[in-house]
Amino acid sequence: MSDAMLNVLRSERLQRVLKALKDGFLNSMDPVIGFSSGVEYPALQGFFSSTEEANEALSLLSEIGLLRSEIVDNVAVCPVCQSHRLMVRMRCPSCSSSRLVRGAMIEHLSCGHIDFEERFKGGEGLVCPRCGKPLGPLGVDYRTFSFLYRCLGCRSVFSSPKIEHLCSNGHSFGGSDLTIQVVRAFKFNPEKSFLLERLIFDLEVIFKPLRSEGLIVESPAEVYGETGVKHDFSFAIWDGVDGRSSGLPPVIVGSTHTSESVVTAVDVLAFWAKAVDAGAKHKFMIALGGVDKGGRDLAEVYGIRIIEGRSSSEVIDKARAMIGEALESVRREKESAPKGEKPQGSSGVDG
Ligand SMILES: [Zn+2]
Ligand SMILES: [Zn+2]
Ligand SMILES: [Zn+2]
Repeated sequence: MSDAMLNVLRSERLQRVLKALKDGFLNSMDPVIGFSSGVEYPALQGFFSSTEEANEALSLLSEIGLLRSEIVDNVAVCPVCQSHRLMVRMRCPSCSSSRLVRGAMIEHLSCGHIDFEERFKGGEGLVCPRCGKPLGPLGVDYRTFSFLYRCLGCRSVFSSPKIEHLCSNGHSFGGSDLTIQVVRAFKFNPEKSFLLERLIFDLEVIFKPLRSEGLIVESPAEVYGETGVKHDFSFAIWDGVDGRSSGLPPVIVGSTHTSESVVTAVDVLAFWAKAVDAGAKHKFMIALGGVDKGGRDLAEVYGIRIIEGRSSSEVIDKARAMIGEALESVRREKESAPKGEKPQGSSGVDG
């Protein structure tokens, strides 16, 4: 898997799709073809903001094997803009005029005259409008064509007009230039479900065991700062129920940044200000899309630890280790602190 692919897979939208696949909410994605929107996948409704985005996601997930697909239909589209809204127009093959009429015709075999059926209708039976002779038996004296075209421009008669298409964006092209788009149905490939574990970024795997150790982990978390302002964090960890309920600051706060954007100095500064006001001792930024130099330098100065990695599982492993280390240092400090003294990092909320 390329870095570019991994980056897309860690985007917020793709992560939601991956989770839905894992949880079994999404299994088969069947197309629906409609006049207004072309090919759509109702199962993906709500996941993406456009049909193009949904299509890109489907092809990426197929490329890595998570989805299997089969061709179930086709749609003819404009070769220029891929619009499926097409108009069909007939033109004269000799003079290209669009002034055509179509109807049932008769050919008088003895004189070769071809004309619309009604032109042959005389008093009784059929009479040729050119030579004026009554028509003999069908198949011997004349033959019929169920539908032929006559050009009102050059008078020529033909069975196959030139077909021209006009798309909703004004492109016109011949029938042989139509682009045929295959329409696929997609299905989750359970043989590749191991990939989901690797690709889904979900910190719950770290938080669950911490909770069973008695720590309070909220994700997302709302923390009131010393200034009284409420701050949002991706996650916050308190050292036990007492800490949370007595208004003590969290020992750890973190912010997760999706792969769509690189973490910059502005992000670091904003997070730092919130974390300081919240009184958190340990500050983590999880940068799924990486961090630029300005952001990295500032994080270093402010004591913010950045967690990044190539795969989601790598990031999760690092986060587990770094959060574990931070909690361990909190524990050590608490043990070494003289009895009766408040743990370090507590803010002035209760004093
Ligand atoms: Zn077009
Ligand atoms: Zn005739
Ligand atoms: Zn013509």
